[in-house]
Amino acid sequence: MKFPWNVGDYASNTCPRCRKMVRTRFELRTVRLARSRLCVPDVLVDVCQECDHMVSIPPQSVPQLREAGLAK
Ligand SMILES: [Zn+2]
Repeated sequence: MKFPWNVGDYASNTCPRCRKMVRTRFELRTVRLARSRLCVPDVLVDVCQECDHMVSIPPQSVPQLREAGLAK
């Protein structure tokens, strides 16, 4: 299975913090969802290049979170 996104890939997305279209980059981050104390390391996420905010989690990373019991 080939993932559509890789670490270091650039994309465009709407950053909720900047409130505009920004250039984003895919990076491996430790993700912690608000309602859980569990952290999932090395999750591929979309990061705003202007404010370093995690903009989105690509669908390919969702099973990884679900496995850890974070996304239901
Ligand atoms: Zn931003």
